Amino acid sequence: MSADSPRFRAVLDQFVGYTPGRPPAPAAGRTFKLSANESPYDPLPSVRAAIASAASHVNRYPDNTAAELIDALATRLGVPAGHVAVGCGSVGLAQQLLEAVGEPGAEVIYAWRSFEAYPYLTDLANATSIRVPLRDFRHDLPAMAAAITDKTRLVFVCSPNNPTGTAVTSAELTAFLDRVPADCLVVIDEAYVQYVRDPQVPDGLRVYADRPNVAVLRTFSKAYGLAGLRVGYLVGHEPVAAAVRKTMLPFTVNSIAQAAAVASLAAESELLERVELVVKERDRVRHELLGQGWTVPPTEANFVWLPLRDRSAEFTEHCDEAGLSVRPYLPDGVRITIADAEANDRLLAAAASYRHRA
Ligand SMILES: *Cc1c(COP(=O)(O)O)cnc(C)c1O
Repeated sequence: MSADSPRFRAVLDQFVGYTPGRPPAPAAGRTFKLSANESPYDPLPSVRAAIASAASHVNRYPDNTAAELIDALATRLGVPAGHVAVGCGSVGLAQQLLEAVGEPGAEVIYAWRSFEAYPYLTDLANATSIRVPLRDFRHDLPAMAAAITDKTRLVFVCSPNNPTGTAVTSAELTAFLDRVPADCLVVIDEAYVQYVRDPQVPDGLRVYADRPNVAVLRTFSKAYGLAGLRVGYLVGHEPVAAAVRKTMLPFTVNSIAQAAAVASLAAESELLERVELVVKERDRVRHELLGQGWTVPPTEANFVWLPLRDRSAEFTEHCDEAGLSVRPYLPDGVRITIADAEANDRLLAAAASYRHRA
């Protein structure tokens, strides 16, 4: 760094920031973006109408308290409105939580590999990351409990885990939470909760209810198909919800996003039908990949994980040539979003041709 450039925090020199999933490379015919776990479906007509109507009033600031959305969420989820906070995606809420606990010496525990936003948001918040390796692609909750010290302020439990797709069971989570001190916050990141079908996987809203140090993060980005509008929510007890309200950038959830989220809750049954289609496709894709001989961990999310290690880049390139953008996490593997049947068939064909060529 030359002396004549502005001086920034040293932590910024160490990381590259968030890298979003790439769009597909231009190819002959239809291409598919399978790199960001988005919904493959366009917004419902009713949601589009709410967006159009909200667009007519954007000369005004949004409701900073997001009262209508928070009331709709509280009613839908059966929790007190005071337990709900909204943010700029659940990533925004993760940042607000880390801002609320982060200071030099504070430790943040998460599994690794997990959601790639955790490391850099932890760094930005001036806290220290403690990464606990996955075991068989799953959270090793006993090891995470053992990693807690009196410096630990927050533990992320990402379930289903991005990018491996595995989810924690109720028994594992209860045993873990019983070992966490009351002054350490546990954040269950449930970005993919609507795709969970395994009855052993807990609903975070049941878990948080009688545990004041547990909060749940959810999002409208994935199952509800509003990734482009940036709105997510936290459910936690009053002190947790109050802390994230304090660290919120003013007007962080814009008025179009608020209106679209309210309309999505009203249209939830239609959206959940789409989720069901993706779940069926997920199970089909995993089954066929297993049949082709791939290792594919069980997945409760809208993606599959291929732990390809040193072949990850090559496989990503192969998919690219087939008009499919997938998401490599070097050096561990490749995450592939489940989309509509046409995209999934293309993926299965690319996977098969890779095996024959390899
Ligand atoms: C996609 C994702 C999120 C959040 O996304 P937002 O669009 O910011 O709501 C949060 N956590 C995990 C694990 C994710 O995969």
